[in-house]
Parts: sequence; structure tokens; C-alpha cells
Amino acid sequence: MAYGSARAFAAAFRAIGLDAEPTPPSDHRTRELGAKYTSGDECYPAKVTVGDFMKVLEAAPDPSRVALFMPTAEGPCRFGQYAPYLRHLLDTNHYQDVEILSPTSQNAYQGLGDLAKPFVRTGWRALVAADLLQKMLLIHRPYETARGDVDAVYEASLDDLCRTLETSPVEPGTQLTELVRSMVRSRGRFRSLQARRDGSHPLIGIVGEIFCRLNTFSNENLVRALEEYGAEAWLSDIVEWIWYTESERFRKLKLAGRMWTREALGAWVRDRVQRRDEHALAAPFHDDFAGREEPDVYEVLECARPYLPREGAFGEMVLNVGKAVCLAKKGAAGIIDISPFTCMNGIVCEAIYPRVSRDWGGLPIRNFYFDGTQSDLDRDLGVYMELARGYGRRRGADKT
Ligand code: SF4
Repeated sequence: MAYGSARAFAAAFRAIGLDAEPTPPSDHRTRELGAKYTSGDECYPAKVTVGDFMKVLEAAPDPSRVALFMPTAEGPCRFGQYAPYLRHLLDTNHYQDVEILSPTSQNAYQGLGDLAKPFVRTGWRALVAADLLQKMLLIHRPYETARGDVDAVYEASLDDLCRTLETSPVEPGTQLTELVRSMVRSRGRFRSLQARRDGSHPLIGIVGEIFCRLNTFSNENLVRALEEYGAEAWLSDIVEWIWYTESERFRKLKLAGRMWTREALGAWVRDRVQRRDEHALAAPFHDDFAGREEPDVYEVLECARPYLPREGAFGEMVLNVGKAVCLAKKGAAGIIDISPFTCMNGIVCEAIYPRVSRDWGGLPIRNFYFDGTQSDLDRDLGVYMELARGYGRRRGADKT
């Protein structure tokens, strides 16, 4: 998760009475422990998460009182192995007492017991709200007049969100009212900032593997580096993935001829409720996001269809290709795909991007792979930004 999402998600746990904290910021110790406990064949996100978890256990006075949250998923890639793999590492390194909390929609989140219902809704709202604040951060930061102002407002807004989540009743109506108030307060903070917008900042779409794309330690804070080069980034958020998994649920129910079942009805109600929550939380930012509206997941999937139809491909690769096209339509001057080294999603996308680029008149699309040993990101971004500026100028000229 992104930094803000992890903080908000931990606050959602605290809202239902569980003492939760995000893992501390990743650092050199994360790398050391990740390297110590993994073999090197795993995906880079596995190494970073294992390193972060081991760092928590190393510092815990009583590790047996710690539970680690590691979601799981079914899918074509290695993510589904993360939780069992972590269990194996804990068991073979004297941490048998440490629990892994790995709730899954497949069993209606039974692992959370009676807390499942309030947690699922609170957690969803926390992630939506955190994505909205992150979007405000990225829309404002390239144009700040005093360095650090926008980050400070973002931190204050996250504090506000976490406090609101923790202190509001989990009763759905009251909680939503309080969260919308928190969003309005944050909007006011961002709007009060001085901005220097001169139209010279190319818009760069950022897609890629969800962990590496959102975890600034893993991607060497690529978005920040892009901003240093005078770009504005449009980063694919975490909620996009949740909408995708929901849409997959409907597709599979339809394929199995089970659209008129209790399960389908439950999924439909859940979809309505989630959409209503998202709409309410995003409403205060309607004017701020003008021209930067997130496309619906079905629009993303349709944009991917000529290259990777969802019926024949699965997971992030479909979303990334589709989002790249959506962002091109929204005026992006370039697309960057952030993926871990050897990630199958990144590799498949890299094979598709030349066609997307051709179809969009030479749109610069570049994969950046990360494995913790990056050498010259700064130089590569400098070259890339020249291409993006050139493309932006050509597109501008084409339109006139
Ligand atoms: S998306 Fe890529 S990096 Fe992430 S678990 Fe799957 S294969 Fe590994």
C-alpha cells in the first residue's frame, strides 16, 4: 500500500478496537532482513514486505503478541504465495506464535469474526479517502511555491482522516458524515495553498505493479524525482484494483450462469454500497479533480480490449494497458510503468506498449524495473522527460 493508505487502513483497524500500526518506513535494515530471510528468487515486493515484518518482530518486546496483516488473492502471479511463504518463514525462524491475519473475500472475511462487517466497510472508506488525499497531493505538489508546503498539508490531512476514523462511531451513516467532513477540511487546507501553474508541466501517467508503484521506498520515490523534472504525475491508485476484483467477480458469476443467485445479489448490493460511499467521499473534490477524474474500471477494461481483452488476460497487466490508454486520452504526455524486476505483469505490458505507443502517435511509454539495486534512475528520467516534452509539444501543435 501507499504510505497514506497504510496509515488510514491501520486507523480502520483501530476503529473496530484492534491495536494496529503500519510497518515503520522501509530502510536499509528492511533490505538487510529481506535479503537474509528470502532466497533472492522471490519478487522484490516479497523481499521488502518480509524485511519490514522481520524488522517489526526484531523490535517487538514480545513477538507472540504481534499479528501481521498480509492479504492474499487468487490470480496468475506469485502474490497468492506471499502469505503461505511468510508463514513458512516465521515457522522456521522461531516465530511460530506470530499470527498472520489474511482475510479473504472467498470466505466472507471469517478470519475477522464479528468484526468483519464493520471492518470491511470502514476499511473500504479508509482506502478511498486515502486515495483522494494522495490525488490532491499529486495535483498540488508540482506547483508549490514554498518547498514542503504541500507535504505538510497532506500530513495534516492524513492525521485528520486517521483521527476521524478512530474517533467516529462505526455506525455507517454517522461514520460517513464524519469522513465527508474530514474531506471538506482537507480540501480547504489544499485550496489555501499558493500555487504557481504556468502550463509547462507535462502530465505523466504512472501505472505498474501495485506494490512497487505505490511504495516509495521500492520505486526510489520515482514520482518525486519526476516532479523535480517539472512533471505532474497521475498515479494509478489502490482502489482501482479493488474495483477490478469486484468486476471480475461479476464476470465469473455470469460465466457460471449464476447471476440470479444470493451470491450475485450480495455482490450487487455491495457494489452499490461501495459506489455510494466513494461518490460521497469524492464529492467535495469535484472541482479540484476537473480534468483529472478517475475513469471507471469498465472504461479502463474497454480501453485495454484491443490489446489485452480481459477474457483472455488477467490481473494488473490488463489494468495497466487500459489505464495507459485512458491517460493518453486525458492528455498524458507520457506513461511510466513501475514494476519489480522479473514481474510477469511488467514483462507482458512491455511487450504490448510499443503498439499502444504507435497508436498514440509515438506516446513515450517506458518500463522502469526495480529490485533494490537501481543505478541511474535520475539520468534515465531526464532522458524520458525530454521525450515526453517533445511529445507534448507535438500533440499541442497537432491540436492547433
Ligand atoms: S505482480 Fe509481479 S511482483 Fe507482484 S507478486 Fe505478481 S509477479 Fe510478483
